[in-house]
Order: sequence, then C-alpha cells, then structure tokens
Amino acid sequence: MRLVLVGPPGAGKGTQAQFLAVHFSIPHIATGDIFRSNLKAGTPLGLQAKAFMDSGELVPDSVTNEMVKDRLNQSDVAAGFLLDGFPRNVLQAEVLRANLAQKQTPLTAVLELSIKNSEIIARLSSRRTCRECGLPSAGDGKCLHCGGALYQREDDKAEVVARRLKVYEEQTAPIISFYRSEGLLIIVSAIGSVEEITQRAILALDPGSH
Ligand code: AMP
Repeated sequence: MRLVLVGPPGAGKGTQAQFLAVHFSIPHIATGDIFRSNLKAGTPLGLQAKAFMDSGELVPDSVTNEMVKDRLNQSDVAAGFLLDGFPRNVLQAEVLRANLAQKQTPLTAVLELSIKNSEIIARLSSRRTCRECGLPSAGDGKCLHCGGALYQREDDKAEVVARRLKVYEEQTAPIISFYRSEGLLIIVSAIGSVEEITQRAILALDPGSH
C-alpha cells in the first residue's frame, strides 16, 4: 500500500497516520516530523527549514523534494509507505509522481481527511504536543501517550494557524483536484472519535477488510 494522506492542519493527519501505518504495516513518513527532528538536532536541514516553519510557510520545494526522495530510497519503503504532510503543492505532487513512476511503484490511493475551517481553528488552538514522543494531546496536563511534558507548537499559535490555513487553501487544496483527476482520491470525514475515523479510513481503503 502506497498512500498519501491529505487534509488541512488540525484534521488529525498525524494521529490517523500512526494508526493506519500500523494497520497496513507500512512506514509513516511525516515531512513535518522530519523537519522538527532536524530542528531539534540543529542540523543544516533544520536550520534551513526553521524560519519557514515558524511563520507557517512551506519550506522551499527544492529542499523538501530532495528530502522526500532520499527517504523513499530507504529499504523499509519496499513494503509501501504512508506520506503525511507531503505533497503540499501541485509541483511536489508532480515530482512525487515522476519519482514513483521511475521506480514503477505508483501511488495506491490518496486519502483526504475532510473538515470545516471553524472546527480546525478550535482544535488547533487547544492542541498541545508532547516534547518527548511528539504526539498531540488535548489540555495542559501530561502527554496521554507517554506522560511527557506538553507544549504549544510555535506554529499552533493563532496568527500562525491563520497563515497555515491560508497556505493550505492556496497551495495544498489544488492537489485534491490533481489526485481526483488521477482517479486516486478517497474522501473520509475527519469528524468523530479517533477510532471511528480510523475505522472509516480502513474501510474506505480496503473495502474487503470487513
Ligand atoms: P506539519 O507538521 O505537517 O503541519 O508541518 C509543519 C511545517 O513543516 C509546515 O508548516 C511547513 O513549514 C513544513 N512542511 C512540512 N511538510 C512540508 C512540505 N511537504 N512542503 C513544505 N513544507 C513542509
């Protein structure tokens, strides 16, 4: 299974990606996570990405495409993959298509998590992220997954959220038509409990599984 997960910030892509990757036994490749771990480790890639991430803009395509290409050349990808947060614009989608065509491993499906803007703003402004495991948790207490300390991502602050949504609408939403015309698009509602959404996604991707 070679999957792309698309949806606006706050749709729950990261959370769903974790569960879907386990269900289908494929690596979860999240470009935002790769950038954040490079930032934390102070690598040149992290330093290059920092200003763009802090302001809610996209990291330049040349940097991002190269990073994803390298990741897709690693051996664990032979089992398939789940891309989360990539592609984020039509150029990235075209580069990905060309790269996969060259390896004769085209995408199996593109799953869109669909949600209204009003719901996103409410979710993101209350989202906290764990410093230890990187997973999102609600509230101000400890991480629900590992008990680590929570913090608010710089780019979950109100002004940056507004910018990220605008970037999504202007640059990322066009990839939905791109994938629809390729016959790859599957749309699932991102409203409901985490478990409900995961089940919906699994059923949509693999109708024979139930
Ligand atoms: P995310 O965790 O997916 O919301 O990504 C956090 C930030 O990382 C984004 O706001 C961008 O600055 C950067 N980023 C992640 N994925 C991409 C991508 N495919 N293209 C460009 N920038 C990205």
